[in-house]
Amino acid sequence: MKRAVFLDRDGTINEDTGYIGSPERLRLIDGTVVDAVKKINEAGMMVVIISNQSGVGRGYFTTEAVETVNNRLRNILGKGGAKIDAFYYCPHHPDEGCQCRKPRTGLVSRASKELGIDLSSSYVIGDKVSDIEMAYKSGAKAVLVLTGYGTEHKDLLKRSPDFIAKKLSEAVDWIIKDIKKAAGSKQ
Ligand SMILES: [Mg+2]
Ligand SMILES: [Zn+2]
Repeated sequence: MKRAVFLDRDGTINEDTGYIGSPERLRLIDGTVVDAVKKINEAGMMVVIISNQSGVGRGYFTTEAVETVNNRLRNILGKGGAKIDAFYYCPHHPDEGCQCRKPRTGLVSRASKELGIDLSSSYVIGDKVSDIEMAYKSGAKAVLVLTGYGTEHKDLLKRSPDFIAKKLSEAVDWIIKDIKKAAGSKQ
């Protein structure tokens, strides 16, 4: 079984400019994002994007548009030597009551089955309450980043995340330390 870092997309990797339906609107939060993803790769963990894209269900854009944006993100990171192993997204409108919209765990469960990921030794990084709740429901550890909606959502959390990071790079550094600590305490 593999270990993964499940990453939210908008507000965690790239600026959350609201319903991103075209690749021109994709802007990384800052220059440290590429190295942060690369560090996850080098630590031997999978990088899996878990994203709510209700812009599809709301009729703002198509699933093809989501995939174009995702491909653009994969290319930008790839140029810097960072790899995304898989993308999963929920295209539904919040009113549809699907099982895949975060905070529900449908997408991580699917990723776990399809990619052979052990959720209990995995991590979720995101900027919203829904990311943190999905982490806890799925048995993974949760890291809130203060980019995107993070600063606002920090005060809305019912349960504290395992760590609060200023941004993705700090979240990844904490995860790598946390894994080493856990490995050390088993010896
Ligand atoms: Mg987000
Ligand atoms: Zn869904």
